[in-house]
Formats: sequence, C-alpha cells, structure tokens
Amino acid sequence: MRRVYLDHSATTPVRAEALEAMLPYFSDEFGNASSVHGFGQRARHAVEEAREKIASLLGASPEEIVFTGGGTESDNLAIKGVIAGARDGGRHIITSSIEHHAVLNTCTMFEKQGFEVTYLPVDGYGLVDPEELRKALAAAGTDAVLVSIMMANNEVGTLEPIKELAAAAAEASVPFHTDAVQAVGKVPVDVEELGVDLLSLSAHKLYGPKGVGALYVRSGTRIQPLQHGGHHERGRRAGTEDVPGIVGMARAVEAACQEMDEESRRLHQLRDRLQGGLMERVEDNLLNGHPVRRRPHLLNMSFENVEGESILLSLDAIGVAASSGSACTSGTLEPSHVLTAMGIPPEIAHGSVRFSLGQATTAEDIEYVLEKLPPIIKRLRQMSPFAR
Ligand code: PLP
Repeated sequence: MRRVYLDHSATTPVRAEALEAMLPYFSDEFGNASSVHGFGQRARHAVEEAREKIASLLGASPEEIVFTGGGTESDNLAIKGVIAGARDGGRHIITSSIEHHAVLNTCTMFEKQGFEVTYLPVDGYGLVDPEELRKALAAAGTDAVLVSIMMANNEVGTLEPIKELAAAAAEASVPFHTDAVQAVGKVPVDVEELGVDLLSLSAHKLYGPKGVGALYVRSGTRIQPLQHGGHHERGRRAGTEDVPGIVGMARAVEAACQEMDEESRRLHQLRDRLQGGLMERVEDNLLNGHPVRRRPHLLNMSFENVEGESILLSLDAIGVAASSGSACTSGTLEPSHVLTAMGIPPEIAHGSVRFSLGQATTAEDIEYVLEKLPPIIKRLRQMSPFAR
C-alpha cells in the first residue's frame, strides 16, 4: 500500500544530516558538557557551537539561547519564568484565543491562581489585530506582566503580525513572547526584525529529534528558571544538556533555513494543487485560515456534513496520514478551539482536516489524495446523520 505522510505539523522524521551529526555524541563523544576533562570539553564545545549556530540563524546572540526539552517546555519557561522574575509582580497576562495548549493551559493555570488573563479574539482568518492588543494593554495598565502570541498557528497555519504586536507590547514596556514552534524553518524568523523578547522553538517540527527545543531570551529580560539544580544554561535551565539532541537540532535548523526558499516554493505549489483540486472535486468545502498569510505547506479544510475523524480513519486505511482540527486532546470530540475562535460553527469545524506537507511529499502523493479523497467524502456523506 502507498504510504503518504501529510502530518508534518505533528512531527517530522530526523533528517540524515542531523542524525549523522548526532551519532558520535551518543557513543564516542559521550562526555558531560559540565566536566572539566577532554570528554566533557568536547561535549561543551559541541553544545556551544550549536548555540552559536542557532543564535546566528535567529539573529540573536549565543547567550540569549536557552536549550530546553522541547516547545512545551520553552513556552512554560517563557511564561512562568517571566512571571516569577517580574520585579513589580504584575498579575495580568495577555494571550490569544488560538494558542497551542502549551501556552493556553499555562495561562489557565495562572487564572486559577487568581491572575487575570485576556484571550484576544481573532478574525475569521485567525488573525490577531494589533489594535486589540493595544486596547488590552491599556486596560491592564501596570498590571500587565507578559504578552504571548504565537507566530504561526499549528492548526490553520495563519501567520500573525508579530512585528506589529511586539511593537505594541514594547510601547507599553511589557515583555513579548512568541511561540514560533511552527514558524522556524518555514518562514524567515529574525528576533531583531520581529522585536520579540522571547521566542520558542522545537526541533522535531523541523526534521530534528524529539524532546529538544530552545527559548530565545533577549538580554535584559528578567526570567526565573522552572527547575532548580546545577548552573546549566546560565542558571536558566538546570539539568545535564542533551548533547546529541542539541547538536541535531542545530544541524536541522541550519538545513531548514538553507533550503527554506526553494522548499517553500515547492510545497506551496503542491499545497495549492491539493487545495484547488479538493475545492473543485468536493462540494460544500471551506478553507480554514488565511488564504495568503499562511504557512506554505499547510492546508486546513472543512467538509460539510461529514466528520473529520471519519475522513481521517478512511484516509489511514488507504495509507494517508493527516490530522483533524476537530478532536480535542482529551478525546471528547469538542470542536477545535482555533476554529471556534475564528467563528466557524461547530458542525463545520467538526468536518475539518489538516494536511501538512513536507520533504517527502511528491506530486504523486497529492494526485493520490485527490483521486481517493472525493469518493471517501461522498460515501461518508451518504452515511452521515448530518446529511441533508
Ligand atoms: N507550540 C506549537 C505551536 C506546537 O505546534 C507544538 C507542538 O505541537 C508545541 C508548541 C509543543 O512542542 P513540543 O511538541 O516540542 O513540546
């Protein structure tokens, strides 16, 4: 059976160059980067080289990069760390209603502790309006402690106006964090150009290993660590560094940035072919997310009168892996909080499917989906209790 992986926003395979760079640090060069002997120093050198590489690709300084255990930890460190480090103890967080749960659930946790959280609304395309942020900052006044708004949405791919949003936060002298887990390696990311104070990234979304990530922390941003222990990462993240993971991430970020223009163009074309083909061949469809301000490799579409989950199972049966924007992580089949925030009615949100293309995706893969999916949807609609 043909195997077509169209779920690169969930995770990606480790690319050959990254794996090759990592391998020696599992065996021959196994030293602890904190040890003074040669084994340790070679590991330290590899970690610092990786830090310099990632910093230069993001337009940052090496000491502004903190290695973490992934995107979730980077988001947690940014939010909890800034709140714990705030000198005047503000208790009002401003975020958006379409964040990843790594940000949303961290904010909810603070809400339960009595903090105020403003969840900025989005328009029908999933865009946050910088004016709304200005209003929220004015309303929060000196109590505002942090703004956290993602750079690229994971479900619909919409790219937020981070530069304008960060400028609004800077006007109010409030630190600005962006979750760029789905943006780094896909679109240009330069922390100076964007004007952000903190930025999260994760290796496994860009052909690096799972369980490793980084947080950019602008010099001068006050932050407290989440966990306490040794003085690793300049006291910002205790724990022996994952040397192979860090080396693999740096190589993966480097390769993704090098090939970004060409690969974006290729995936853009394939994505548009998939989008156009489905729009033409399947009635009652809706494109979710911004038509233009969107990650080049992502397509999220709703098909009316059919369950996204049923589409996914049928696709899986013919070897196609995609994902649904409709299933909530707890498995309660709540419609996606992102689509709901965009004003999409639950019955349409329930029929959404996310296709995320990547390195391995070929034109033949797209034609295979275009051939197989329309009859699947037709059959499911005939069986659907929602059918008219
Ligand atoms: N933020 C966004 C936008 C994501 O898409 C993800 C992963 O799905 C995360 C954070 C969490 O990253 P990780 O899987 O590395 O913890």
